[in-house]
Amino acid sequence: MSEEKILHKGYIQEIFSSFQGEGVAFEGSCYGLRQIFVRFAGCPLALGKEGTAGCLWCDSPQAQKEHPKYCSIETEAGSQQFTKKENPIILKHVLDNIQQLTTKDLHSISLTGGEPLHQPKFLKDIILNLKQKKYKIFLETAYAENLQFLEEIARNIDFACVDIKDKSAEATTKWEELVEREVKMCRILRDAGTKVFSKIVLSKSSKISDFELVAKLCGEVNIPMAIQLVSPTKKSNVQSLTWDQLVSFTETAAKYLPPEKIGISAQVHKLLNIL
Ligand code: SF4
Repeated sequence: MSEEKILHKGYIQEIFSSFQGEGVAFEGSCYGLRQIFVRFAGCPLALGKEGTAGCLWCDSPQAQKEHPKYCSIETEAGSQQFTKKENPIILKHVLDNIQQLTTKDLHSISLTGGEPLHQPKFLKDIILNLKQKKYKIFLETAYAENLQFLEEIARNIDFACVDIKDKSAEATTKWEELVEREVKMCRILRDAGTKVFSKIVLSKSSKISDFELVAKLCGEVNIPMAIQLVSPTKKSNVQSLTWDQLVSFTETAAKYLPPEKIGISAQVHKLLNIL
């Protein structure tokens, strides 16, 4: 098989049109805006890269698998009806489906997962082709295995959300190192001109002392931070933050970031029961 053919195929879990349900009204966030979601398959954290089976309350367990047999594609924007295409899917089909789901109110293409950076060559192909077609790119990422690759593509990314893992998510056995990597990702994107914010999902078992370390490091990069209340999942019996916890987290963040760069987020698409 020629290199070109290899680069132009990859594993996608689903492609559909909806609204961005996470974020805060600050730079980098696309909260409430219409997007086409391209969910990449495979997550290095769930695949044991950091010594665990992924985050305790993973909200996209269906995208953890590296090589799913099929990709689900919404047949028409807003229809919520899906058809299946065999994986690995070719670049042309991804682009054709995006084109087909494009609506007048479309703001950007959300490249999410799983972990989009886990398929670097395929991701780069998709981004460069979408940019050529004048689409705006929103990247949602938690883990860059190769920071140099992120540097290479960052200038093509318009908006980004870097998911910083709270210690209680148990995404890694070396938590501080993971946080430092994620903050480096924020710095790389910011330096490339991407409008980037960090998101940290917190639960009742989150500790203020752990959060303080995250807030301090994020303060050094000085990008906005969304404190997201965990959504309960079927698998975990995770509990949301109490009110007292919530305000103590936002006030702790304010030791390192200005108030306009701190906000709370919840998964509104789940509350509205939409895709
Ligand atoms: S990084 Fe995302 S996809 Fe991977 S285990 Fe955590 S929540 Fe799930």
